[in-house]
Amino acid sequence: MMYNFCVLIIDDEIPILKMLRQRLERLGMTVDIVSNGKQAVRILNENYYDLILLDMKMPEIDGGQILDYIKFQKKFEVPVVGMSGTPWLLKNSGFDAVLPKPFSMEKLKEMIQKLCYE
Ligand SMILES: [Mg+2]
Repeated sequence: MMYNFCVLIIDDEIPILKMLRQRLERLGMTVDIVSNGKQAVRILNENYYDLILLDMKMPEIDGGQILDYIKFQKKFEVPVVGMSGTPWLLKNSGFDAVLPKPFSMEKLKEMIQKLCYE
């Protein structure tokens, strides 16, 4: 990677956040994690990200609402990958790519390559 690649992960499950952060940091990426929609909105307005990984099912503000905020309210140009253990929720949802949970690191790396480097 030629520059500091910054990823934001939004998921209400803390173990998932920590695991994904650790693995992406090992690839040399800078990773921020947040566990709810309010934190997501705040950090999205403070920082620039190259990629966002967004969980679909979260209490209060769900992934669909956050996606709407990113794409239509703020019009941020960042690619957003939707993640869910309930894959039908990801259908026709407007994400740039989707990852049904659970997914392998290989799958995630492939997707990052496709979305951000091709
Ligand atoms: Mg969830």
